[in-house]
Amino acid sequence: MANASRALFLLVLCIGLSGCQDSGPPPALTAPPEFQVETGTDPHSFAEYEKVRITHLRLDLDADLAARTLTGYAVLELERPEPGFQRLVLDTRDLDIRDINAIQPDGQYLPVSWRFGADQGHLGRPLVIALPAGIEQVRIDYATSPDAFGLQWLDAQQTSSGKPFMFSQSQPHYARTWVPLQDTPAVRYTFDATVRVPSDLMAVMGADGNAFERNETGEYQFTMPQPIPSYLMAIAIGDLEFAEAGPRTGVYAEPDWVERAAAEFGVLEQMLEIGENLYGPYRWGRYDLLVMPPSFPFGGMENPRLSYITPTIIAGDGSLLALVAHELAHSWSGNLVTNAAWRDLWLNEGFTVYFEARIMEALYGAEIRNQLAKLSWDALQDTLATIEQGDRQLVRDLSGQDPEQAFTLVPYVMGGFFMDWLEHRVGREAFDQFLRDYFDHFAFQSLDSEEFRAYLEQQLVAEHPEKLDMAEIDEWLYQPGLPDSAVAIEPKSDAFERVDAARLAWQSGEKRPDALPTETWSVHQWRHFLSGLEGAVDAQGMATLDSAFELSQQQNYEILFLWLMRSIETRYEPGIERLEPFLIEVGRNKFTRPLYAALAETDWGRDWAIEIYQRARPGYHPLTRQASEAALGIDANSGVP
Ligand SMILES: [Zn+2]
Repeated sequence: MANASRALFLLVLCIGLSGCQDSGPPPALTAPPEFQVETGTDPHSFAEYEKVRITHLRLDLDADLAARTLTGYAVLELERPEPGFQRLVLDTRDLDIRDINAIQPDGQYLPVSWRFGADQGHLGRPLVIALPAGIEQVRIDYATSPDAFGLQWLDAQQTSSGKPFMFSQSQPHYARTWVPLQDTPAVRYTFDATVRVPSDLMAVMGADGNAFERNETGEYQFTMPQPIPSYLMAIAIGDLEFAEAGPRTGVYAEPDWVERAAAEFGVLEQMLEIGENLYGPYRWGRYDLLVMPPSFPFGGMENPRLSYITPTIIAGDGSLLALVAHELAHSWSGNLVTNAAWRDLWLNEGFTVYFEARIMEALYGAEIRNQLAKLSWDALQDTLATIEQGDRQLVRDLSGQDPEQAFTLVPYVMGGFFMDWLEHRVGREAFDQFLRDYFDHFAFQSLDSEEFRAYLEQQLVAEHPEKLDMAEIDEWLYQPGLPDSAVAIEPKSDAFERVDAARLAWQSGEKRPDALPTETWSVHQWRHFLSGLEGAVDAQGMATLDSAFELSQQQNYEILFLWLMRSIETRYEPGIERLEPFLIEVGRNKFTRPLYAALAETDWGRDWAIEIYQRARPGYHPLTRQASEAALGIDANSGVP
């Protein structure tokens, strides 16, 4: 699995040398003299998990919402494939380590020496702990930083409940900013946790044991009996209420949102059953959603048993539920079978995009699935046209890069089309059987693209040699862009062709907007209509459309976003008036980044956009800040152009 081309980050530890950044208490055991720590098999982690490996985590944390910290301890239970290996290297970033003890088999604590390695930027600092023979548990007392990249703390003014809120985002490599651990998807472990919060708030985790009601003590207990990778560690604290959706499903949200959310997501139980019918049992017990504040930087995050969801998909008519299908599908692709490193992200996301489409097809029919596929195809073409050649392939060498770079449409959408193509070649029945077997075979394991490739060759190509060959498959995996063979699966949508015809009829003056057949249009047809207006409408045309369809008053965020993009391009004032409140309320990167980038390109909007950003910034997640600053071309630290 090791990738020969991976650059190694060599790091000389300061044990025995001068210039240590931090050091622990006087050692009771001597750490090995000078040695090196490199990122391991996973270039985004310092974990040496082939030698010593976390099998279980016990967390005990107190949350201080005013100080914006979690304080407590983590006990790591270890497996030692190399019993003589005398150190444990953990990933940490901005953690305040207070004490480290080995727990001896008789339960006695034994202080051990430890050191931080040098700061490696987004990778954080390796924490190197001396590991005496026979020790299988280590306790680390620590606190998080108020600036922990993986935690967002919102104060009372930034939430709809008027009470503070905190949530984690651990993917891809931010778990290390709130728990010291082996922060690589290659390592899976079970955990249990005790979390104490103020008694007017509730703590929830991506785990079993979420309470349906707040309790008086403010103490909450969780367990995760299935082994998970660290990027799925999730915690949130807020004024939360629960509403049931089905026997195994429900919604957590702030009081203002909970009824609306439960109504919108009433289809959750049905989605779960569709997933099980397709690819085998749901193995995680309950499946609930946590509705996030609008500043949540993503659409959703597939935290096991409790996926996090942006409120921007609550449209009132269930029209944006593909995202919920996506997060649920991750209960199989990703959470059950996981990419071993971020170069293999497509194994998580490509499978999930395909699975999501199958759920949508089962729920709403092939036509809606097709419309969604066409939107994705078009967006992928745009992405492929703008990104670097080396970023256009499914399996991507990310050594030396921030794993955030992996999150483009390529692993998602191109990965999904690769699955479509496999289905197209061997037929749905054979492909479904293959996927069911795949999920069973690799359940609760992490694998890389080459392991998948070998399995595919043995299980599917060997069965259908006349329909598939490895050279074509390798083109999908290792060559940039869509291969020529993809032409067979290009989505075609009659519904979109009718939209194109309507747009033309209006733009040629043949029909007035109110004479267009829009009553039957789906949200996706509207998206196609508005996307097709890019560079093909002026402010006058915008005004005509607005008076016919009240698009500036739109409540559906996907439609509104496209309307705002067109408003910026045409400098259409009624649309532009909605921009500032939108950007201050919403922190979802899918919307904020392109809006800021579009404003930055205008001669009238850039300074104004920077002013809006400065006002919005306190409510944004660190990831949204980072992306917005890049879009605006402003300095990350000062926020100054
Ligand atoms: Zn996903």
